[in-house]
Amino acid sequence: MAYWFVFCRGDVLLERRTDGTHTIPSGEQPPIGVTSDTHILNVSPMDDGTPVKAFAIDEVGDDPRYEMCGLRQSSYKLPLPLYLKAGKAQELLYWDRNTRFCGVCGAPMEMDTDISKRCPNCGKTVWPQLATAIIVLINRGDDLLLVHARNFKTDFYGCIAGFVETGESLEETVRREVMEETQLTIKNLRYFKSQPWPYPCGLMVGFFAEYESGELKLQDEELSRGGWFNKHSLPTIPEKLSLARMLIDDWLERNM
Ligand SMILES: [Zn+2]
Repeated sequence: MAYWFVFCRGDVLLERRTDGTHTIPSGEQPPIGVTSDTHILNVSPMDDGTPVKAFAIDEVGDDPRYEMCGLRQSSYKLPLPLYLKAGKAQELLYWDRNTRFCGVCGAPMEMDTDISKRCPNCGKTVWPQLATAIIVLINRGDDLLLVHARNFKTDFYGCIAGFVETGESLEETVRREVMEETQLTIKNLRYFKSQPWPYPCGLMVGFFAEYESGELKLQDEELSRGGWFNKHSLPTIPEKLSLARMLIDDWLERNM
C-alpha cells in the first residue's frame, strides 16, 4: 500500500471521507487511470515507512470519491505530514516536467535515482534545484515594516522578500533586497527559520532585522504600498501557513 499524490494542472487530488474530512488516496494501485505515458515518480516515504508515489494527469474526470484542491488550500484539509509531502511531490513533478531533455545535447533524459536524471548520450546528470528566497521582518522600536507586494493575490501586508542571486550569501541578499525595495539599511540581522515553499520549487529563509538608517522609499515596481505599523495596530497579515506570519507572530510574542 502506498500514498498516491496525483496532480492535475497544479491541483492535488484529495479523497473525500464519509466523515467530511479529506485525505490522500492510498492503496496498491493508482486511484485514477494511468496510461503507458504516465511517469510515476517515487517520492521519499512517510515517516512510518509508507511508500509515496506521484504522477500528473491532464484530465481528472468525474468521480464523486475525489476532489481537486489547490496545493495551498490543501494545507487546511490535510494533516500536516501529508500537506508537506504533497509539496515535495509537486516539486519533483515540476522538476520532472522541466528536465525531459538534456540541456547539453538535447537527448531525452532518463531517471538515474529517485531524485536524479542522467543523459544516456552525454552523461550529464541533473537534480531538482531550489529557488532560495529570503524574507525579513524589520522593526524600528515598536513599529514593524510591512508591505503589500504587487504579486500578492490578496490584500494582506507581508515582509520584504526576494530571491538569492548567484554569488551571494543569504546576509548579502537580505541587505540588498531591503535596500532595493525600501532604501533603508538594517542592523542586528538574525536568522529565524526556513521553510520549503513548493510554489513551484522554493526554499524560504526567514530573518529578523532592526532599522538602522535611511528614509523609507518603497520600490514602486514591486510594492504597491507599505510602511511602518505600530505593533498595536497592524494591518491584515498573511495566513498562518506562511513564514511571514511566523516571523510576525514570533516577534509580537517577544515584544508585547
Ligand atoms: Zn546529454
